Amino acid sequence: MELRARSLFEQTADSLCALIFPGPCALCHEPLEEAGALDVCSACWGKLEPWNGPACSRCGLPFASERALDATEPLCADCRQGEFQFDAARSFGVYRDPLRRAILHLKFRPRERWGRRLGGLLARTWESNPEIFERDRATIVPVPLHQGRQRERGYNQAEALARGMIRALGEKKPVPRLEAKCLVKTRATEPQTGLSVAERRENVRGAFAVSSLISIKDRAVVLVDDVMTTGATLSACTAALKARGARRVVAVTLARASPQFPDVPVDDQRRE
Ligand SMILES: [Zn+2]
Ligand SMILES: [Zn+2]
Repeated sequence: MELRARSLFEQTADSLCALIFPGPCALCHEPLEEAGALDVCSACWGKLEPWNGPACSRCGLPFASERALDATEPLCADCRQGEFQFDAARSFGVYRDPLRRAILHLKFRPRERWGRRLGGLLARTWESNPEIFERDRATIVPVPLHQGRQRERGYNQAEALARGMIRALGEKKPVPRLEAKCLVKTRATEPQTGLSVAERRENVRGAFAVSSLISIKDRAVVLVDDVMTTGATLSACTAALKARGARRVVAVTLARASPQFPDVPVDDQRRE
């Protein structure tokens, strides 16, 4: 209790300080011109671009070459082989700078406003894929952290994103419903870093369960997470949701890490 009160105090003090003394931009470290602004400059914010190039029609994997589009329904190798449990997925952009640094910032410096801004990018992804995201019947489920990890970090970045996304979508009705406690991570898993695709899948197999307090039977679920790499975590979450009767599970993430766009340090191509 005492701990929680202090952290709330610290958060409030942080926000007040940011209003009075704007620090440097969190992404480029240049001084911010305006007090009260989010701690990222408008130039950096403008550089967070969506992926508009060719992509897999099912999982949204960005293709580096236009040739892949020659097929009537362009699918990546994983989707052709039926590797994913979820029905479809889309990401706002490719996991590379500056989007990568924006996401790392969300993860390690809990700022509600930051989640809200990045959640707004998820809302844009949602709006531009109406064939995948069914607004009026959707149930939004953030990918959970294990209890110990969440205690350590103080919050779940996927939930912060989901809240930001719903807030941005809320400007137009109907608003999808958030079930933040729907999925539970039942055991701590090894970091996915450095594991092969098969090892990643094995690492998270059966690590998620649906809370017995929540019914998702026949519901259309939208999973929310920050980064999708191999899709192993999203697939494990989907398996748990479908086992409890979810009719359809689709996923929306901020960024897709892909070996086709390798300009990313290998050590952070994972969610935890
Ligand atoms: Zn900047
Ligand atoms: Zn695919």
